[in-house]
Amino acid sequence: MQDYFDFLNQSPTAFHTVKSLTRRFKALGFQPLQEGDRWSLQSGNGYLVERNGGGLMAFRMGGQSPTETGFRVASAHTDSPGLKIKLLSQEVQDGFLRLGIEIYGGPIYSTWLDRELSLAGQIILKSPTGLKQILVDFEEPIALIPNLAIHYNRDVNKGVALDPQSHLQALVPLGESSIQSLEGLLAQRFDFRVDQFLDADLYLYSPQKAQFLGPAKDVYLSGHIDNLEGCYAVFESLKDSTPDDSTIVGLFFDHEEIGSLSPSGAQSSFFSEILERIVKVQGGSDEDYFRAKSKSYLVSIDGAHGVHPNYRDKHDKNYAPILGGGPVLKVSAGLRYSTNSSTGGRIEGLCRDLKIPLQRYIIRSDLAAGSTVGPMASALAGLEAVDIGVPMWGMHSIRESSSLSDHRLMVQLLREFYNGRSI
Ligand code: ZN
Repeated sequence: MQDYFDFLNQSPTAFHTVKSLTRRFKALGFQPLQEGDRWSLQSGNGYLVERNGGGLMAFRMGGQSPTETGFRVASAHTDSPGLKIKLLSQEVQDGFLRLGIEIYGGPIYSTWLDRELSLAGQIILKSPTGLKQILVDFEEPIALIPNLAIHYNRDVNKGVALDPQSHLQALVPLGESSIQSLEGLLAQRFDFRVDQFLDADLYLYSPQKAQFLGPAKDVYLSGHIDNLEGCYAVFESLKDSTPDDSTIVGLFFDHEEIGSLSPSGAQSSFFSEILERIVKVQGGSDEDYFRAKSKSYLVSIDGAHGVHPNYRDKHDKNYAPILGGGPVLKVSAGLRYSTNSSTGGRIEGLCRDLKIPLQRYIIRSDLAAGSTVGPMASALAGLEAVDIGVPMWGMHSIRESSSLSDHRLMVQLLREFYNGRSI
């Protein structure tokens, strides 16, 4: 599983997740397509379409037209909650560069304190030939958000409210350096001139590596398990599936953590446009596209909440998935998840045949469930869909934990789905 851990370590932002996935897909022979080019697709071949830096669709053409077989699609999201740098909010004081941040999604603030933090993202440079976009990652720790000492807040262990505007600014020690700005640090590290710098999307993250807990080598900790686990499960199962007549699709959406409304998010045309284009490039009509969709199926993969041993009453005891107990089928009466009894029943049947333990999750009736890309993607494209995920602890902490055996079972399930195993 070293490559899975490498993937977790190499994907600190959605841009890097797409880069990590693209490199792996290309090594398998998948060919990148540009949306602005004319396409020609051959059966048996794999293709990649990137959108907006953080969204990616990978597909392998089947032996028959999707009009006859439909598409088999599995999706995950490339982004994670975190702290995004506000470029103009920089101040040098007492030998430290203080960086203001903006909240991206719903991180647990307290988990960001007293940690070695690094910085990664995308920067835009002016070059003689036009704009240049580069991905950057400091990789090593460069910043810190220190806690306030308990002596200044004796009630800290009763819970503390952190104001992101003032309390979560990151401190970068400058020492004796003549460089006094973030742009200067970036220019020195990534080899460009400060006057070339135009703009950037930069995020703090923990450079601590993914790591097993204990000799059993099953429970592991990492940043961004939500939803890099899902991304890697889709990649791994697509990689190992043996193509038959159907076209199989891996879909990696960006911006799930902030509502999915972007050109590469689940509330966009990305998914349905590419499906439509695959049908029409091969000479299909509107009706052929509608026929293809009616035979298609979406498995949406995103993290599930494993029951926390110290907070058992947060779960309905009959819907309390445990770490290491297998993948989780996620259900919600309010359709926060896309699962219905028909699509859920099909997954239950498949798992029963494969002897994969399937756990179920419905939130306590007095709490409100989170959501994911499944309901949006299936509504916009008009596909049958199901929501599943592996259980984890500490979702949206800077360091989440999960079980490798659950990940392996997820990959096995997805592989059988891609291979067209009938239920
Ligand atoms: Zn997620």
